[in-house]
Amino acid sequence: MTRRKLIAGNWKMHKTTAQAIQFANELLSRGAVGSAKTEVCLCVPSVHLYALAGIFEGSGVKLGAQNVYYEDEGAYTGEISCGMLAGAGAGYVIVGHSERRALFAETDDIINKKLLAVCSSPLNPILCVGENLEQREAGAERQAVGDQLEAALRDIGVRGVQRLTVAYEPLWAIGTGKTALPGQAREMCAFIRSKIESLYDGHAADRMRCIYGGSVDPVTAHDIVSGADVDGALVGGASLKPDVFFDIVNSVSNHT
Ligand code: PEP
Repeated sequence: MTRRKLIAGNWKMHKTTAQAIQFANELLSRGAVGSAKTEVCLCVPSVHLYALAGIFEGSGVKLGAQNVYYEDEGAYTGEISCGMLAGAGAGYVIVGHSERRALFAETDDIINKKLLAVCSSPLNPILCVGENLEQREAGAERQAVGDQLEAALRDIGVRGVQRLTVAYEPLWAIGTGKTALPGQAREMCAFIRSKIESLYDGHAADRMRCIYGGSVDPVTAHDIVSGADVDGALVGGASLKPDVFFDIVNSVSNHT
């Protein structure tokens, strides 16, 4: 099956609402963003979702959040539920980003609970997995990523996994300017797909998307996303400037 590519931006904790609105208007002023073969999504701080949803309506640019809590509502000060995110305009949500694992003590168990909640909501999950430098140097990247996948996907049914995007983000490539080689990205995305096949079935493995994240820029984007198993990119730093993000989207959509 032909999967639609996904270019997703991850703004992390950047931009005020006024700056986010300015970005959206500048991005749209450049022309069509994405294409029938390339879907575009911006994962922004949740406080900007509602304002940006109005601006991007009808443009094809989708919105996502960067985190979510697994309960529907209640006494969880500071947390945001799937329903709240969807109501504010999000279609996607990142789960298990390495910064949340490392800086906010998100365990495999918490990530699994979040993924279960997302899969029974209207949101589409972008699950981040990836090995650290030590694991890569020891040749243990498949073991590390396979373990993260198994833990995150515990009790997730086949219908949930078909809506899943896995973002393969080697920790040594995030925010470092050191992009993985296209061959490394392809190999790990193929491995992730084979792992999904072994946990579910060939149909589910064929439908889920696997994208690469880690220092993608307009120069590296096309090569990294080429190849049957890499279905797009998760773009951090380079998604903060409208012209740079637009160039990344174009370099992928013009070549697919
Ligand atoms: C990320 O944080 O998801 C990411 C890919 O960051 P960067 O592109 O800045 O490496």
